[in-house]
Amino acid sequence: MTLRHDWSYEEVARLLEQPLMDLVFEAQRLHRQHFAPNQVQTSTLLSIKTGACPEDCKYCPQSGHYNTGLDKEKLIEVEKVLKQASKAKEAGATRFCMGAAWKHPSRKDMPYVIEMVKGVKAMGLETCMTLGMLQPEQADALAEAGLDYYNHNLDTSPEYYRSIITTRSFQDRLDTLDHVRKSGMKICSGGILGMGETQNDRAGLLVSLANLKPHPESVPINQLVAVPGTPLEDADPIDPFDFIRTIAVARIMMPESHVRLSAGRENMSDEMQALAFLAGANSIFYGEKLLTTSNPDADADRLLFKRLGIEPEPLAASAHCSKPDETLPESAPVSPQSPLFYDACEAQA
Ligand code: SF4
Repeated sequence: MTLRHDWSYEEVARLLEQPLMDLVFEAQRLHRQHFAPNQVQTSTLLSIKTGACPEDCKYCPQSGHYNTGLDKEKLIEVEKVLKQASKAKEAGATRFCMGAAWKHPSRKDMPYVIEMVKGVKAMGLETCMTLGMLQPEQADALAEAGLDYYNHNLDTSPEYYRSIITTRSFQDRLDTLDHVRKSGMKICSGGILGMGETQNDRAGLLVSLANLKPHPESVPINQLVAVPGTPLEDADPIDPFDFIRTIAVARIMMPESHVRLSAGRENMSDEMQALAFLAGANSIFYGEKLLTTSNPDADADRLLFKRLGIEPEPLAASAHCSKPDETLPESAPVSPQSPLFYDACEAQA
């Protein structure tokens, strides 16, 4: 099928309003054309620099603008990162994601970050980072060091963006994604639902993502975790069925991308998660924590997978979209258990 990059708000708004059963059925039908239906991709995430971020994202406990009681940490040492990556590999992780709470990496931080990428890559792991905005030469340097994925979320629609973040523009985000794409890295980019946005804003977010050419390889759909101390601490939660609708429409619009059920999963019942998988989600942050917000622990995830007959997606399939008729290895091993490891992937950052 031909992938589209010319979606309009009206068209996507109509999709979001379809009867839920029709929408989920269509999403699952497309999902099966592009992915093994009973596999979900899982990865491991390490926070390499926590808190004191100069950005003012209203949802984020790591922003230095809000007092959320978060323990701040400086950039952690390269050796510590490599040690944790080594442990992750021993425990069977296939992708190692590193997240830093920065507006952008500084000149002095880049050599350390590059060493982290090179070291983790040399272990035979897939690499992923989220470091904030990048200049073209920074994206090139990361790509050259071996960075496979860069996470940079669009968060919400262009129209609602200023209500959520004032320290950067929507265009800044698009510019970084452009630099990442031109450097040859894969893109992980999605958004957050439940921040007071309208259904039209959800359409705007999905249009902005799906009209990127090519589509982001990974599309995290987060449900707001309303952290006390952030301006969105009292935000009304999104209707769970609207959340499922957004997952289904993301799957329909970007049929070859991994749609990631991301932050907020801890607040979802097993049944809700199963419905999200049925609607086309096929990737999760797996383990105890998601950067600074808690995440269902690994045992609960393993149990849920077992109950649903789902297996972790193997590396070969997650590195590129798998077709149902491809021969896939049995299953990928599960994640390490360590205070620094979250069997998860790109972050809400
Ligand atoms: S979401 Fe990212 S950029 Fe925004 S405040 Fe949090 S760490 Fe900083």
